[in-house]
Amino acid sequence: MSKRIFFNEVVTRDGLQNEPAFVPTETKVALVDELSCCGFAKIEVSSFTSAKAIPMLRDADELMGRITRVAGVEYSVLVPNRRGAERAFEARADELNLVMSVSETHNRANLGIDRAASFAQLAEVVRAAEGRAAVNVSLSCSFGCPMEGEVPLAELLRWARAFADLGVRGLTVCDTTGMAHPAQVHDVIDALLTRFGEDRLQLTMHFHDTRGMGLANVLAAVQGGIRRFDGSLGGLGGCPYAPGASGNIASEDALHMLGAMGFDTGVDLGRLLAVARALPGIVGHAVPGQVAKAGRITDLHPAPVRLAA
Ligand code: ZN
Repeated sequence: MSKRIFFNEVVTRDGLQNEPAFVPTETKVALVDELSCCGFAKIEVSSFTSAKAIPMLRDADELMGRITRVAGVEYSVLVPNRRGAERAFEARADELNLVMSVSETHNRANLGIDRAASFAQLAEVVRAAEGRAAVNVSLSCSFGCPMEGEVPLAELLRWARAFADLGVRGLTVCDTTGMAHPAQVHDVIDALLTRFGEDRLQLTMHFHDTRGMGLANVLAAVQGGIRRFDGSLGGLGGCPYAPGASGNIASEDALHMLGAMGFDTGVDLGRLLAVARALPGIVGHAVPGQVAKAGRITDLHPAPVRLAA
């Protein structure tokens, strides 16, 4: 089985969107440009949602226009509706990432409409994107909903099938609030790969470390045959309903683990760690990522002097 990992860095979208202090466009441009040189397969740059809904990402158009694109890196943007799609086409996004929740309650809470209405809107975007950009759909709360609790696997499979039938290129299975555990990840992946093998549909896992299970879930997924992951530099991107809770898995920690296991991530970890170490200065607070603080397992320390003689 292939050892190649395709990693999507989401820090400038998912990571920043709940941060209270606006990060200047210039800083975001520099951050994306530096990430582009680290070797990611994909970067989710921003979101073409309304400026009122997410003020942090109000500069999405300008940001997309100012970044320096690197060959081999795909530039993705989150698109909530047809209007957002038009902005994404204008910005020459390589991929449109659409979002809906597998949980009816979460979809209503997050998007203000029921799942059927979301699906109808997104189906329109998929049609509009034909021949213009690739389409990925992120399914929120695929492993559990903070309001409904357990989300039946059959529900996830039903919506995955609906989008696969529309002809989308990929699906991202999101553990939006960190409720997944490794045994569940194993079962979900088994069911998904049986129905939508990698040759037909790109399957990406999006884990959160809210309850400390993030990397355990990455391990379960990679052992189950998944090769595509989302992550956010520094582990940025906590849940707005749980202040202080850790958010997305830290990209550098996941890449460090996968690299140690012999996977080819394509990412220059040393360079990425330098970016991770600059992140607290950008957001104005400490971030959860651990390898940036501890160093890599290959970064050795000198023995104490008393042992030298
Ligand atoms: Zn996330």
